[in-house]
Amino acid sequence: MIHEFETRDGVMYIGGKSAVEIVEEFGSPVYVTDEARLRENFCRIRDAFSKYIDTRVHYACKANTNLSILKILEQEGAGIDAVSIGEVLTCLKAGYSPNRIMYTGVNVSDSELKQVADLGVMINIDSVSEMERLARIAPGHKISFRITPGVGSGHGAKVITGTKGAKFGIPLDEVIGTYVRAKDLGFDIRGIHAHIGSGGQSVEPFMDMMEILVELVNELSGLGIDLEFIDMGGGIGVPYQPQEEEMDLDELAMNLTDMILEETNVKTLVLEPGRYVVCDSTVLLTKVNDVKDAGTKKYVGCDAGFNTLIRPAMYDSFHYVALANKMGKACTDKFDVVGPICESGDYLAHDRVLPDPKEGDIVAVYNAGAYGFSMSSNYNSRPLCAEVLVCDGHADLIREAESIEEMWRHQKVPERLR
Ligand SMILES: *Cc1c(COP(=O)(O)O)cnc(C)c1O
Repeated sequence: MIHEFETRDGVMYIGGKSAVEIVEEFGSPVYVTDEARLRENFCRIRDAFSKYIDTRVHYACKANTNLSILKILEQEGAGIDAVSIGEVLTCLKAGYSPNRIMYTGVNVSDSELKQVADLGVMINIDSVSEMERLARIAPGHKISFRITPGVGSGHGAKVITGTKGAKFGIPLDEVIGTYVRAKDLGFDIRGIHAHIGSGGQSVEPFMDMMEILVELVNELSGLGIDLEFIDMGGGIGVPYQPQEEEMDLDELAMNLTDMILEETNVKTLVLEPGRYVVCDSTVLLTKVNDVKDAGTKKYVGCDAGFNTLIRPAMYDSFHYVALANKMGKACTDKFDVVGPICESGDYLAHDRVLPDPKEGDIVAVYNAGAYGFSMSSNYNSRPLCAEVLVCDGHADLIREAESIEEMWRHQKVPERLR
């Protein structure tokens, strides 16, 4: 089941605050995060695993890098999985110490590697090229390797990362040789990592991946390379359809940790959930500007499109929608919920029954906390929207909506064109 919010008198309440009041106060579109739900999600996944094994949860912050959200997770004891120097610096700014951050870049430059190493952040190496370059840039640095397990999982082809031939990681048949080379180079080798993809809903691919990791760990141990941790990556899915079942976290945790504890001498499991932590903590609220009957289809036209939430257009992702000011009202007809971008691929939801949508209503798009704001853009010259955090009925602005002037700030017009 998807996470449902509280309703009072037909109005959606997020963290104890009315969605209608939030839009009146902060404008539309706006991403709204329920702080209590965010904390719950983090604690649920941490506890599911730490019950069985020493666990470090590194939040994969590319899902949502808002500083306030990062600070909340820092308070809960999260570490970070960062994929760029920008994410590393953002997390340092949010108060994470460098030793709680792991950097997992792909196709990164020497200068970025140097910056990350100089900050004292562990580097999860993605290729033999990166290892050889890092050996010159930061000899003896603390590292792990991302391997390509040959197992994939995810909500769509674009987000599956672990299959053979993927652009990510050390190919399976080169893993042992690469670790031996890393030892010769004098690296401080800490662990092994795989990330099979994003949004997977079944336990089996994780088990297949762990089997491969366990085998590698033992082979390395036989060569005198003992690892401190196994990092299973992220990718744990959440329900997006109202009736969809949740992944059985306890089954996943029990099976994976069993394998590690029974078959290896590794004592620590690292996991890197992104989506799982933030996804259902946040809704996107967007006002209805226009309602149109186009004959073969009826449209609800909102002020948020794929500039604000790209997942439907990019991945054909399903996001549940409701009218936040008409909760529980009888549905009248089927509509496509679409945005202000001048492309026919600009939509938020297809063929949804809604209760007599009218101009001025507020559409709530569920599960917008992961890969929502962080993938938004200025396309069609629309400024990035605001973000709001709600706790105990109190709403705080955690990102101002961008202004039109701010969209121009990096442009330069040559003298001859002025
Ligand atoms: C994106 C990513 C994650 C998080 O994936 P989710 O599906 O959001 O849990 C974890 N690890 C790495 C290396 C990633 O690139």
